[in-house]
Amino acid sequence: MNGGMNPRDRYYAEMKAAEDRRREAQRRAEIERERRAREEERRRREAERQRAIQRERMRRKKQRRIFLRRFLVFLFFSAIILAIVFAVTVISFRMKPNLGTDTSEYKIVYGEDDDSVTERVSSAKFERDGVRYVNYTSLSSYLSMSVMAKDGVYSFIIPESGETVTFTNNSADADVNGSSVRLDGASLYENGDVWTPLSFVTRYMTGVKVTTDDEKHTVTFVVDGKVGFTNKKVETLPHYGETEGDDTTDAGTDTPPEDEIPAVEFKSDLSAYKQYMNPTGEERDAYLILVNTKHTIGEDYAPTDLVDIKNTRTDRGARQMREVAEKALEAMFIELFANGYDGNGPSGYPVSVMSAYRSYKEQVSLFNSYVDREMRDDPSLSRAQAEKITSTYSAPPGTSEHQTGLCVDMHNMPSAQKAFADQPAYEWLRDNSWKFGFILRFPEDKQDITGITFEPWHYRYVGRYHAYKIWSSGMCLEEYVEAMENNGAAG
Ligand SMILES: [Zn+2]
Repeated sequence: MNGGMNPRDRYYAEMKAAEDRRREAQRRAEIERERRAREEERRRREAERQRAIQRERMRRKKQRRIFLRRFLVFLFFSAIILAIVFAVTVISFRMKPNLGTDTSEYKIVYGEDDDSVTERVSSAKFERDGVRYVNYTSLSSYLSMSVMAKDGVYSFIIPESGETVTFTNNSADADVNGSSVRLDGASLYENGDVWTPLSFVTRYMTGVKVTTDDEKHTVTFVVDGKVGFTNKKVETLPHYGETEGDDTTDAGTDTPPEDEIPAVEFKSDLSAYKQYMNPTGEERDAYLILVNTKHTIGEDYAPTDLVDIKNTRTDRGARQMREVAEKALEAMFIELFANGYDGNGPSGYPVSVMSAYRSYKEQVSLFNSYVDREMRDDPSLSRAQAEKITSTYSAPPGTSEHQTGLCVDMHNMPSAQKAFADQPAYEWLRDNSWKFGFILRFPEDKQDITGITFEPWHYRYVGRYHAYKIWSSGMCLEEYVEAMENNGAAG
């Protein structure tokens, strides 16, 4: 300090300095208070802001939740409405595949493989009022038929046989080989073509196979035999022979008496079919004809009592067999279905007949088609080699018992295949077909004797008496006929 200052001044100076320090401290405290207040205010605002943000977040979250709930409700009702619309569409589609507004097409294929011709037909033309139509003009040109037209009347003629069908424009009546039939709908003449219900082909034509694939919207026509017309419709039991079922007179033969076969019982009333299932007297041995590679059948042999088979698969043309066998077969189907084997197999169809009587000519073309296929599959084969391979599964002309009109190929498979043997319906047929007069003609364990591989689908009518003998002895027809001949020679 300044030594020149008097004590009083120094006192004052000190007092002043102390006062200054106090004030400075006060000022600093003031500033600090203000700073703290500002800080406090800032924190308060920050907290306020945070709360506001939080509130906003909650509000949005709640909004989202409400929106989500509404959206879910909307989805739920939309799904219900869609389901209803879908169901209605499916139901109406099933009830009536074409709703009139449907402009999609059907593919109509004539023939197979490379030779086929495809035609596109609008669904509206293909199906009218629930009746499916075929452009018969197109079909007739595929079948090489000739056409005669006059005043709305159209005749289609098969040149080789002269068989004729006549359709009249806007009329559901048609004339088949001179007798009139009623169609499912009117025939229609449009732009130079005659349209007629598709069912005419399946019901009144032979030799034309019709396959309908609704998923692929495709209908295929393939010639699989002699093309012709038939107006036979098997609806009632026609009279057959003079022999009554109760006829016990033996025709003087030394064959064993009828009581050697056990009595049979059926779930259905098959009394009307008795004489067909179990022919007696002279008729009993009338159906044992043996046809194979060693016992050929004449080129001109053709049964005169062929009738349409009731249980032909609906995608096939009419199939025929001899009346007695057809009636016995009807009975077998009735009982097969009565035993619960009426469900659809892997083909979507129940057991039904695919093939039966085939003429010599048809067997020629069938056999040749298989030979051609073998040679296509393996071009190194000679024709003779291909024929040899083919003959292991298809009988050469003159050696097929299909020409007798006494056998059928029946199954529920997409095509004749050994897998039918895994179907319960096969087991039933194997064990019960004798009751109706049928035998499994080509058993698995007799391939070396029959010369034909196992055919679980091929059944042959011989009448109940012989069918029982064959089934119960485990013999095949070749063995049985040989045994009978030996017995005959010995007796
Ligand atoms: Zn067969």
